[in-house]
Amino acid sequence: SRYNSVALVVGVTGIVGNSLAEILPLSDTPGGPWKVYGVARRPRPPWKVDERVDYIQCDICDLDETRLKLSMLQDITHVFYVTWANRPNESENCEINGKMLRNVLNALIPNSPNLKHICLQTGRKHYVAPGSEDHDPPYTEDLPRLDSPNFYYILEDILFEQVGKKEGLTWSVHRPAPIFGFSPYSLMNIIGTLCVYATICKHEGVPMRFPGTEEAWNCYSDASDADLIAEHQIWAAVDPYAKNEAFNCSNGDVFRWKHFWKVLGQQFEVECGYLEAGERLSLAEMMKDKGPVWDKIVKEKGLVPTKLEEVAAWWFADGMFSGPCPLISMNKSKEHGFFGFRNSKSCFIYWIDKMRSYRVVP
Ligand code: NAD
Repeated sequence: SRYNSVALVVGVTGIVGNSLAEILPLSDTPGGPWKVYGVARRPRPPWKVDERVDYIQCDICDLDETRLKLSMLQDITHVFYVTWANRPNESENCEINGKMLRNVLNALIPNSPNLKHICLQTGRKHYVAPGSEDHDPPYTEDLPRLDSPNFYYILEDILFEQVGKKEGLTWSVHRPAPIFGFSPYSLMNIIGTLCVYATICKHEGVPMRFPGTEEAWNCYSDASDADLIAEHQIWAAVDPYAKNEAFNCSNGDVFRWKHFWKVLGQQFEVECGYLEAGERLSLAEMMKDKGPVWDKIVKEKGLVPTKLEEVAAWWFADGMFSGPCPLISMNKSKEHGFFGFRNSKSCFIYWIDKMRSYRVVP
């Protein structure tokens, strides 16, 4: 074969899936040349036709479909698991997300003789227990699990159990902060959500007010560039020092939303509202009737057709801006040899530009 490694990206249209699909096929990517298969639930979207990816439409919630479609891929060497389902409560999240990962690994492990490594993406919520006692940030990977249900714990346990079934199979877990990246299909895309909010404010001629608390406006925050997360996973997939470990993954700098809000305003030429003391706005509340407004903007500006609820996750922004940002530490990644980083301000502007160049926003 002319390939050194063969990747299966599960969730290839998502926010990190897109970055993996772009980076893996490049000629200078570690471990390459890579052949890339990508799985997602819906048909291949128009904004992905150019990629060098073998696209597999498959609903991994469906056991039979997953077994049928993935057990045929007998050349896989590496799995990048960058998908999830979001349910209203954590016990349902545990059940559905556990089932999805199990379906994929049960189809692959017995049928992929060359399988070497599995990267699992979870997130900072590993260290957070809503409503009970949290750890003190900055969060480090060695902190014990919290005593509250968390689907990330279920995913890790399934991963550990499944890799034990095959001699020499290794794993890594990647825990990002909020991700700056590109995907009109992501369940949580803060860049997309803010771009759509700015566009609607501009269209309506109103200032773009900050929908969060004073703490969220003023505190040091962190973020994770989607390309950086892809590089981090590829590093863990090929580097022997990164095997069988969990790693946080963030840009490695800090910023403040009160500064980035101005940047967002400049990018869309919309007036920035300031935060009024004691005020708490909810995007979900403010934007609940804006579906038809968005449809009108899409039509007028000739954008890629999208529905407001696909491109804007108001609940996610409301949650993110509800309090101070608990930072994650990058020391362990550096100590194990990963020195990648991003300048969060350039990264913020880069992904806004990408949303525009793909005509998701004007
Ligand atoms: P995403 O929502 O951007 O993308 C999910 C991908 O999985 C899409 O390609 C979607 O089509 C696919 N998918 C969903 N259900 C499927 C199914 N049943 N069958 C096949 N494909 C399916 O994903 P993400 O945000 O990268 O999330 C991965 C993990 O990262 C999650 O655990 C999430 O909590 C975590 N995380 C995300 C963020 C963020 O800002 N987005 C931040 C920190 C942690």
